[in-house]
Amino acid sequence: MLGFELTEEQIELKALARKFAEQEIIPRARECDEKETFARDVCEKAFAAGLMNFGVPKNLGGPGLGVLDASLITEDLCYGCAGITNSITANDLATLPLLIAGNEEQKRVFLGGLLKKLSFCAFAITEPGAGSDVASMSTTYRREGDEFVLRGTKHFISNGSVSDWIVTFATSDKRLRHKGISCFVFPANLPGITRRRMHGKLGQRAADTGEIVYDDLRVSASAMVGREGEGFKYAMATFDHSRPETAAIGIGIAQRALDECVKYSRQRSAFGQPISNFQALQFMMADMAIEIEAMRLLTYKAAWMVDHKAPPNVNSSYAKAFCADACMKITTDAVQIFGGYGYMDEYPVQKLMRDAKLLQIYEGTSQIQRVVIARNLLRE
Ligand SMILES: Cc1cc2nc3c(=O)[nH]c(=O)nc-3n(C[C@H](O)[C@H](O)[C@H](O)COP(=O)(O)OP(=O)(O)OC[C@H]3O[C@@H](n4cnc5c(N)ncnc54)[C@H](O)[C@@H]3O)c2cc1C
Repeated sequence: MLGFELTEEQIELKALARKFAEQEIIPRARECDEKETFARDVCEKAFAAGLMNFGVPKNLGGPGLGVLDASLITEDLCYGCAGITNSITANDLATLPLLIAGNEEQKRVFLGGLLKKLSFCAFAITEPGAGSDVASMSTTYRREGDEFVLRGTKHFISNGSVSDWIVTFATSDKRLRHKGISCFVFPANLPGITRRRMHGKLGQRAADTGEIVYDDLRVSASAMVGREGEGFKYAMATFDHSRPETAAIGIGIAQRALDECVKYSRQRSAFGQPISNFQALQFMMADMAIEIEAMRLLTYKAAWMVDHKAPPNVNSSYAKAFCADACMKITTDAVQIFGGYGYMDEYPVQKLMRDAKLLQIYEGTSQIQRVVIARNLLRE
């Protein structure tokens, strides 16, 4: 059976997220972008409104939302600002390895802890020398008695400098590539961890992006998530789950860009008439509307498939690649429709364009999504 109706609960969640974006996020977006401000106060309000930690299961006291629910909320929060929303939703990425492979104690301590007070967690896999090629990571671990000792550097980590705990990945032997990688979870304030916020991003500037250094970090043996040597598998499963939510970021940004264009094109005049009269611009906006609808269909389907545990995972890559690229095109066209004003920070479309670019880079670049898709096509 094919259905396109959202449930009452999903409609309410979307409305709550949109209201939150309009009342709490949009008024702060420009200033936080300019000053690279991490909007902890907005996160406090999102936490109080139940708009964080979507996937934490009900048996731990969490909302226990599915990927489709989380994607719907993320879309509407990102209508306000993708950077501030990144601070609110980065926890979802870090909770996934524990949901996929964590034991009951790890779930109780780390996932349960997220519900007691506003707290943040980070998913740290990328390194200065290893991004797309995850299996080439250099962060190592070795066993010493009842402990693991980690050494290496992770960077570009969302909520990396503000997180209360970290899920990370390290290898026992770099030569083993993906087979040597294991996953760990531990508090972020342990001796042996140093962190700093990285500055100077093009977009999503309100988001915290951090560098994390493990200098002979000692964690107990219980910090390992799942089975030794299976970390790469957990990381890839994490991305299958997270990519629809990331694709939804693009829908929110793109919808906002289109709405801004419709409004502006009615107000701005050229050649004695509103610029909305020009078919050239009408067609650009019509194309945006078509693409946004396609973004929604791909994303909601991919999210539905994850929620229904339906293989194969390639739909998450369809959604992520399409939404990232469409969002980039839509926001670039939005700047064009605004003309010179679009290029200035007086109007929000230049920020939307800068925020959109990150979607083609993180959680697997647009090229890597195509590698995943092509591999699936050519699999014997
Ligand atoms: C703001 C921000 C937030 C981020 N948040 C997180 C986070 O929370 N956690 C985390 O672990 N990481 C995070 N990242 C890291 C992000 O996932 C990586 O930047 C991304 O995976 C790309 O890796 P790279 O930057 O090393 O680029 P590279 O891997 O060096 O890629 C460079 C270029 O080569 C292309 N390329 C590489 N391999 C191939 C191939 N096989 N075929 C075709 N093209 C290829 C890429 O598409 C890209 O165009 C974040 C990054 C940013 C900028």
